[in-house]
Amino acid sequence: MPKSHEGCLFCSIAQAGAYRHKAKGFVAIDDINPQAPVHVLVLPERHVDTFRDVGEFDARETKRMLEFVAETAEKVGLKDYRVLVNVGASAGQTVFHLHWHILGGGDASSVDVPATVATAEVEQ
Ligand code: AMP
Ligand code: ZN
Repeated sequence: MPKSHEGCLFCSIAQAGAYRHKAKGFVAIDDINPQAPVHVLVLPERHVDTFRDVGEFDARETKRMLEFVAETAEKVGLKDYRVLVNVGASAGQTVFHLHWHILGGGDASSVDVPATVATAEVEQ
């Protein structure tokens, strides 16, 4: 089990949570505040602050992480869905431990991209 990042909510959840799906190095949990009929979060067990730092994973782990996102969607019964990562506070990231949102169920076209994405800061 990777070392927990001090005070990180998702490190704690990755170590002891009510998982929807689990595989070596990754867990999937229900979002506490769902934005769609099915809203699941995929977390690597290893702490990485944001998607910007995705290069901290090696090629094999990165492939595994993407496969785990797809496996999780299938496991929770979704065929069509959206995958979203908020990167940085102004894009809506509130928990600074990399996580992938999987949103679906019902009419997938009704799953809106949060307004924060539209107003995210643009680095010049
Ligand atoms: P983001 O805003 O992209 O950083 O996503 C963080 C997500 O974590 C939000 O959708 C929250 O609803 C969700 N969340 C926060 N605390 C918990 C928790 N204890 N268990 C499950 N999901 C959580
Ligand atoms: Zn963490």
